[in-house]
Amino acid sequence: MSLIQAQALEKTYRAGDVDVHAVRGVDFTIEAASFAAFVGPSGSGKSTVLNMIGCLDHPTGGMLKVLDTDVSLLNRETGAAFRGNNIGFIFQDFNLVPVLTAYENVEYPLIMVQDWPAADRAKRVKELLEAVGMSDQADKRPDQLSGGQKQRVAVARALVARSKLVLADEPTANLDHDTAYRIIELLKGMRDEYGTTFIFSTHDPKIMGEAEVTFTLEDGRMQTLNGGSRPPDTRIGSEASHG
Ligand code: ADP
Ligand code: MG
Repeated sequence: MSLIQAQALEKTYRAGDVDVHAVRGVDFTIEAASFAAFVGPSGSGKSTVLNMIGCLDHPTGGMLKVLDTDVSLLNRETGAAFRGNNIGFIFQDFNLVPVLTAYENVEYPLIMVQDWPAADRAKRVKELLEAVGMSDQADKRPDQLSGGQKQRVAVARALVARSKLVLADEPTANLDHDTAYRIIELLKGMRDEYGTTFIFSTHDPKIMGEAEVTFTLEDGRMQTLNGGSRPPDTRIGSEASHG
């Protein structure tokens, strides 16, 4: 069973008295532990697709299953609970809380969404800061960190609550190319380490080549149908070992 299945998925926004067809009937499947990307020019529907997968936006047509849940049936409240329990987010502009340290930013989801005992929480936060190479910056606030460092903290935050799925909408758009490349390599390494499924979006041709599965959108339609297969390094048994 695929982690995500979409069939004839549609999103139409009503803007004034015109309909904006942001997503016009797309089909795709994404397997567990994939490193997948939605690519395409600005306005092609990338964010709309990611937002529907993340239950931040509601489909207006078609079918969308995420982790075996038909997310079109979720309401605001059940959608938020599903999101909190299963999905981590990484944003273009990092979205760290400015008054909190790197450590506190990573700890935040464990306090807000999941009721972890304090000792387990500290262990988990330290593990993730170590994994993203930010242990020695744990006490710094976002304004004391570079863009790449901030995104490393955001990666740790997205993974700390053991999300099965991480959505990253243009995670490298505010970074120079070398830093962008290193962040994508970090995400791939986290997929290898934790078995987390990553789906990111980008319009940067150099970055899109780093994905193992690519879905190309143009004007709300899927341009190529090369996605949905397992990543090249066929990860037999990886789901079982990663839990
Ligand atoms: P991308 O992320 O690829 O740049 P988006 O998914 O943000 O594309 O947008 C796809 C299309 O939907 C664009 O034409 C955009 O203007 C439109 N759109 C996105 N969100 C809304 C909204 N809330 N209301 C009306 N139109 C929207
Ligand atoms: Mg976008």
